[in-house]
Amino acid sequence: MLKIGITGGIGSGKTTVCKIFEVLGIPVFYADSQAKALMTTDPILMAGVREAFGKHSYRADGSLDNQHIAGIVFNDDEQLARLNALVHPAVFRAFDVWVAAVDRRAPYILKEAALLFESGSYRMCDRNVLVTAPLELRIGRVMERDGASRDAVLQRIARQFDDETKEKMADYLITNQEDAALIPQVMRLHRQFTEPGS
Ligand code: ATP
Repeated sequence: MLKIGITGGIGSGKTTVCKIFEVLGIPVFYADSQAKALMTTDPILMAGVREAFGKHSYRADGSLDNQHIAGIVFNDDEQLARLNALVHPAVFRAFDVWVAAVDRRAPYILKEAALLFESGSYRMCDRNVLVTAPLELRIGRVMERDGASRDAVLQRIARQFDDETKEKMADYLITNQEDAALIPQVMRLHRQFTEPGS
């Protein structure tokens, strides 16, 4: 099964683009929401988190204490890398399980991940798509969507590769600025992925 990775900086619109692919019947694995869920469902990951960040990582009811974890990894790249080193393999395992169960009639599947290139998971995809949008537009979209401050958005952006770096690593680009219609761009890629020999 053809595996397509899809990424983009925060607020670029990658989830919006994936929703269009879903309308075309393409199964999408959302790595970031999976990662969140795995924090409380994957026993290997949970054991790793407890070992690395202490038993207070989880509350008595089994829920994740986000504040505890955020307090440790916030502004500490080493601790953040430690957390990522636990989470990324768990997401890889979940992706493999998901791929094994996906409808074989699907012509290809998508893996959406904010840190597709940064985590190295792009190497496990046959092709990779980058969604781009101007920085100011992205900041405005996320401030509006999440009610976040400009500084908070900029901090999240600083943790991601910049678009210039990602463009070099991507096979295809989708431009999601106001004057660029998304649907024709998605349809063009969909045709490329479904045509034999593409
Ligand atoms: P994140 O990395 O934070 O998950 P994302 O790249 O997945 O972000 P989306 O959630 O798809 O981005 O889009 C960010 C916000 O911008 C959403 O509220 C979405 O509805 C809006 N948006 C995305 N693309 C467009 C567009 N072409 N026109 C108008 N609004 C858009």
